[in-house]
Order: sequence, then C-alpha cells, then structure tokens
Amino acid sequence: MSFTLALVGRPNVGKSTLFNRLVGRKLALVDDQPGVTRDLREGDARLGDLNFTVIDTAGLEEANDASLPGRMRALTERAVDMADVCLFMVDARAGVLPADEIFADILRRRAKHVVLAANKGEGAAADAGVAEAWGLGLGDPVRISAEHGEGMTDLYAALQPLA
Ligand code: GDP
Ligand code: MG
Repeated sequence: MSFTLALVGRPNVGKSTLFNRLVGRKLALVDDQPGVTRDLREGDARLGDLNFTVIDTAGLEEANDASLPGRMRALTERAVDMADVCLFMVDARAGVLPADEIFADILRRRAKHVVLAANKGEGAAADAGVAEAWGLGLGDPVRISAEHGEGMTDLYAALQPLA
C-alpha cells in the first residue's frame, strides 16, 4: 500500500537532502542558505520495497529561537494535513533547539503518525543531539545521515509498519 510521508522540521536540518536521496533525483533545492525555496515539493520515493509519496516542506525561512513565522507554520500544517506519516527531522549536531519544540507541538496536535529522525547523525559529534531528541517525547529517534546515506535500514524499519 502506498502512503504519503511529509518531511517536517526547521530550516537546515536536512529535509531536502533526504528528499533527494529518497526520490533519487535532484528535485528539491538544497542550499546552505535557508529560505531559498518557498513551496511544498512532492516526489515519488523508494526505500527498500516501500514506494510512497514524499513531501518536502521546502523553503522555510529561518526560524528564530522563540517564534515561528506564520507562513512557515501554515506551510508545515498544510504538509502535515496531506500526509499519512510525518518524518520529524532534527539536527543531531545542533541538538534540540526551541524552534524544534514548536514543530514538535504542531506534530503532536495535528499529525496522524510521527517518526522522529535525528539527522546529521554520522560521527560522535551527533551523540549528544541524538540523546536530546529523546526528550521531545516523540519516541525513539531514528539516527540517520541523509548526506551519507546512513541509517536508511532503521528508517525503513520505522516506516514499514505504517505503510
Ligand atoms: P533543509 O533546509 O531542511 O532542506 O536542509 P538541507 O537539505 O538544505 O540541508 C542543510 C545543510 O545540511 C546542507 O548544507 C546539507 O548538505 C547539510 N546536511 C544535510 N544532511 C546532512 C547530514 O546527514 N550530515 C551532515 N553533516 N550535513 C547534512
Ligand atoms: Mg530544503
């Protein structure tokens, strides 16, 4: 059965990098500068024997520590409502920031299913951030590296029961 997965999280956590890896084409714009693209992007994704639609909440503007611009919230909520499952991505190198808590709150209230991913998980520099992600109360974080392709088997294992 097919499903729709939304990649949700603050700017720069690696959503577009994972989108590109799952879709296998450079459809989403990846940039070191947050806020370059503005829309939701959809692609046909494959992970092992799972085939699904993936939505990248591309182009979110920089989230300040305490506030989330209304447009960013609206874009995220739109993606969450379209999705059967949300992959909530945090940056394990940066740790859990106040902006992450705002996204977590949206997901707790609106999402049908949430899988938590601690991205940029390659190397020991991510250990503390992965541990912090537990504190979000959204379950066992799946440690991945979208850039290096690590943790994709664990991501599969987390998504497969929800497919
Ligand atoms: P988005 O704003 O959430 O879409 O994030 P991007 O996919 O544009 O990635 C933001 C930055 O993080 C880029 O410089 C990526 O190369 C980098 N990045 C993405 N995934 C990883 C990862 O697994 N490890 C590391 N070290 N960097 C990553
Ligand atoms: Mg992006």
